[in-house]
Amino acid sequence: MVEKIILAKPRGFCAGVEYAVGIVEKSLLEFDLPIYILKEIVHNRKIVQDLSERGAKSVKSIEEVPKGSVLIFSAHGVPPEFYTLAKEKGLSVIDATCPLVRKVHLEAIRFVKNGYTILYIGHKGHDEAVGVIAEAPNSIILINDKTEALSVQPPQTDKLAYLTQTTLSLKETAEIINILENRFPSIIGPEKEDICYATTNRQMAVSELAKVSDLVLVLGSENSSNSQRLRECAKEFNIDAYLIDGKEQIDNKWFEKENIKTIGITAGASAPERLVKEVVSHFQQKYPKVEITELETIKEKTFFPIPNLKQKI
Ligand code: SF4
Repeated sequence: MVEKIILAKPRGFCAGVEYAVGIVEKSLLEFDLPIYILKEIVHNRKIVQDLSERGAKSVKSIEEVPKGSVLIFSAHGVPPEFYTLAKEKGLSVIDATCPLVRKVHLEAIRFVKNGYTILYIGHKGHDEAVGVIAEAPNSIILINDKTEALSVQPPQTDKLAYLTQTTLSLKETAEIINILENRFPSIIGPEKEDICYATTNRQMAVSELAKVSDLVLVLGSENSSNSQRLRECAKEFNIDAYLIDGKEQIDNKWFEKENIKTIGITAGASAPERLVKEVVSHFQQKYPKVEITELETIKEKTFFPIPNLKQKI
């Protein structure tokens, strides 16, 4: 029987998601509707659905957007040619790319300008990876995992750099970088690491949470990279961990075992706090005596102010 719930802190929205969602919210007030978002503003099904109902429609390609409309690029960033394509189509573009993703694009441009080949550690097909690699597809090689780090044969090794996606596993990425540094001793990395503060803090927080929980629930969508990593982190402590979009995906069977008394809850960087509250109230209704506490590992202060959108387009 569930007796205690511990909430990880920090959890949920990061500064980049607040920024991107804030831009859409402001655009809904300032521009004629509908407005359009290329793909998903952030990888969270409920946010995308809510914004769509209010007039911010997600589209799969620029071709789908009617001429003269406002088009928002998502927090994950886009390939550079998308800006030209949108302009050619007469669209007003608002770029909601997280500044920390933009930082990786700028590093890629700088390294390639200086003659480097880049080994980019990331997930094939993820929007962020697609955007960064498109900055210089002939000079950037994607490294998906340790096997690829062990087998990659760059065209030259004199000027080699690595960059990473912002939402990767800290542990696995460190192992991949270690392999690359052993194989290519002169390889250099970014001045400040690419895995962002929010990914780092949430992974550290869920690790502490998993140590004192019998089971961990991660609020987040299947296609959210950072949420997936949180579930993996928790599972490393030999407990069950489930990724759920919301309270309706909770399966009561998970809590039937006698030893499941303390539930740890966290949320990926794109999962809104109201989903956590709904899950907590679900447990409070089912187990009226359940105790709720919070486990804070670090305080976050990062904040990206929303720009003046009318000036921006
Ligand atoms: S997870 Fe990190 S990189 Fe991604 S949007 Fe949030 S702050 Fe930006």
